[in-house]
Amino acid sequence: PGESPSPQVRKPRLTVLSGPSGVGKSTVVAHMRQVHPEVWLSVSATTRKPRPGERHGVEYFFVEDEEFDKLVANGELLEWAEFAGNRYGTPRRAVLDRLESGQPVLLEIDLQGARLVRASMPEAQLVFLAPPDWDELVRRLTGRGTEAPEVIERRLEAARVELAAEPEFDRTLVNTSVEDVARELLALLC
Ligand code: 5GP
Repeated sequence: PGESPSPQVRKPRLTVLSGPSGVGKSTVVAHMRQVHPEVWLSVSATTRKPRPGERHGVEYFFVEDEEFDKLVANGELLEWAEFAGNRYGTPRRAVLDRLESGQPVLLEIDLQGARLVRASMPEAQLVFLAPPDWDELVRRLTGRGTEAPEVIERRLEAARVELAAEPEFDRTLVNTSVEDVARELLALLC
């Protein structure tokens, strides 16, 4: 009676959600966390300026270039990448603490970052979020309305390259409906 479950039954898991910019990664993650606030998501550091409504420490830690240099130099980032002219990185300590305490961890990062995580933590589960089709991706990237045309063009170019990376991933989720994908992602987390 009162048997406690073996800690071997479930391995704490690091899940990486990646995919082309504009495919809806952050929307899916936001929806999942609305339904399941207990899911822990790593908050990245970035040199990008906040978009309207974004808060420091919630969507990102918004830092200056010099501060980001320091994070890199001090080995405080698990991975980092430059994307469309800005740098983004995952704070290492928080992720490792979380994993050590047996909690599942979710990273929502770009493809370069996903590859770096794969290299340093081969046990990580890599999930690719794919758009239903290319036209839909263009519509989403254009429709955000917060980015200058040349920024959108750069992001589309990156997306073309990123779509070809799908075979490197363990799983693919197609973003047809936010609710469905959020549910599928949650099921993969633990
Ligand atoms: P956005 O500027 O639209 O918020 O993010 C641009 C891209 O950077 C997205 O693909 C997002 O997933 C990625 N990203 C966000 N945080 C990180 C991070 O810590 N590391 C890496 N490699 N990419 C990130």
